[in-house]
Amino acid sequence: MTDCLFCKISQKQIPAKLVYEDPEIFAFEDIQPQAPNHILICPRKHVASLTEATAEDASMLGHLHLVAAKLAKERKLTAGYRTVFNNGPGAGQSVFHLHLHLLGGRDFRWPPG
Ligand code: AMP
Ligand code: ZN
Repeated sequence: MTDCLFCKISQKQIPAKLVYEDPEIFAFEDIQPQAPNHILICPRKHVASLTEATAEDASMLGHLHLVAAKLAKERKLTAGYRTVFNNGPGAGQSVFHLHLHLLGGRDFRWPPG
């Protein structure tokens, strides 16, 4: 996709603080962190949100979560961490390229806001 912020970060056309990358996935620091650790983990493939994902994306969706767990271990988020997909504007999605939020380093409440 030509006019997508996260596609541009994937292609290194826009700078970001990358913390992980492989041929299928990349992860970078959120520009407006909501916790001491706030990383966005994205597929290189442009998928707008979980709603648009298909069976073909099943392994990529698992991969996103396993990378989240690996980064949480590396950052020693032993007290707990949260992984979140915001799907659609009503859930707070503002960038329409699928991304898994990894948040850690503080306590979280339930239910979320
Ligand atoms: P969401 O609201 O779930 O779509 O999440 C989008 C996230 O992208 C927000 O947490 C933003 O702070 C973050 N964000 C927007 N632009 C950038 C950018 N250029 N670099 C890093 N994070 C960004
Ligand atoms: Zn995109």
